[in-house]
Amino acid sequence: MEPSLQDLLRKLPSVDELLKTEPIREALTHYPRTLVVQAVRSVLEAGRDRIIQDPESAAPVTLDVPVLVQQALSRMEDLNRFTLQPVVNATGIVIHTNLGRSLLAEEAVQRLQILCRSYNNLEYDLERGRRGSRYVHAEALLCELTGAEAALVVNNNAAAVFLVLNTLAKNREVIVSRGQLVEIGGSFRIPDVMTSSGAVLKEVGCTNRTHLRDYEAAVTDATALLMKVHCSNYRVVGFTAEVSLEELVALGRRFGLPVVEDLGSGSLVDLSPFGLRKEPTAQETVRAGADAVTFSGDKLLGGPQAGIILGREEIVRRCRQNPITRALRVDKMTLAALESTLRLYRDERRAFERIPTLEMIALQLDTLQQRAEALAGLVREVDAAGRLSVSVEKNASQVGGGSLPAQDLPTWAVSVVMKDLGASALERALRRNEPPVIGRIESDRLLLDVRTLRPEDSGIIRDAFAKILRKDAEH
Ligand SMILES: *Cc1c(COP(=O)(O)O)cnc(C)c1O
Repeated sequence: MEPSLQDLLRKLPSVDELLKTEPIREALTHYPRTLVVQAVRSVLEAGRDRIIQDPESAAPVTLDVPVLVQQALSRMEDLNRFTLQPVVNATGIVIHTNLGRSLLAEEAVQRLQILCRSYNNLEYDLERGRRGSRYVHAEALLCELTGAEAALVVNNNAAAVFLVLNTLAKNREVIVSRGQLVEIGGSFRIPDVMTSSGAVLKEVGCTNRTHLRDYEAAVTDATALLMKVHCSNYRVVGFTAEVSLEELVALGRRFGLPVVEDLGSGSLVDLSPFGLRKEPTAQETVRAGADAVTFSGDKLLGGPQAGIILGREEIVRRCRQNPITRALRVDKMTLAALESTLRLYRDERRAFERIPTLEMIALQLDTLQQRAEALAGLVREVDAAGRLSVSVEKNASQVGGGSLPAQDLPTWAVSVVMKDLGASALERALRRNEPPVIGRIESDRLLLDVRTLRPEDSGIIRDAFAKILRKDAEH
């Protein structure tokens, strides 16, 4: 007689039974008990569900203790993995928001270690021996580097924009061009941040053209400030007109209104020598007369996540005194990493050598070609059976992070095609490597752009291919 569903379920081993098996007792010596029990439970529950759904085919496998033990061990590995882990960025996108944006300079990493291991004067005035402000730490350096009267560092640039508008324009009007109402990604929209700050948006002009007279005509008693937003991730081309910051500043002066610019990626150095379009630097924006300027710490600056506000003394003081600043404040790790990143900018050459974001943008084409050829050689080394076709090719990298849209940097990439394995399966296998290797697919080839690789990544990529080839040979 066929066993009933109840009989089958009763045959499923108990948690205790599995815990007593040799491999799981062994696992208990290096995993916490709670994790082991959780893994065993979830495997048994999954087995139970499978039996209920399909008793005939599921039962023989599901009731097999060694199979369940193996599943539990692999589940333990999954549960024990960090969710936030290092990955190899072979996309060529330097400021990849999904991959953690900018890498920190070694100086910043070391400074983080020093400051996190010890107490520090985060909010302690060593001169006077009493409570101080955390906001002094990067301020002097930011002012030195940009010529701003004052500076304030908050959680990120969205917070910086929010704080400036909440402080200067709550329940009042902010005049902004329709051509600059940008969505940054992850459905984050500048107009939404502006509105949630309590400011009332007053859009002027058209998507492609906004003139000074449009701003001028929109000024009323309710106007709090004039705003300019950097078109981070798109460009309006063709029949276009934009009002320059200088013109906006002159208009602001005439009406006694502050002018605020959200620079987005805000660089402190000119990147046009590397084939990128000339964008105003943060210091040029300050010099052009903007009353407040905001930008990110982890885009072109190449530091930690942060939002930097530069501006006139009176405006920055009001922002600092806004109670909401407390909710946007940065911790000592951010300040430690930011201070050491900014110090590198005192010598621009050194900044390009030491800050990974700048170094990657500045890489020369022949260096990239050499690196691509070296990586291709390493990958071929592990392919004794000749299952891969590996070549190098000229391609294009992006700066990313909503910086410098529609501008590519010429680069070199390694292209890999594997016999009997499609590009997307290969991409997935690399992505599931430990550590994961993230490449991109172009015309059915897997591409590894060497611009964003770190020196240690070559070995990781070689080993990942060795593993994929070995696994594939087993099947
Ligand atoms: C990236 C960006 C932001 C958001 O900056 P975060 O640091 O990610 O908060 C805001 N405005 C512009 C124009 C941007 O490019």
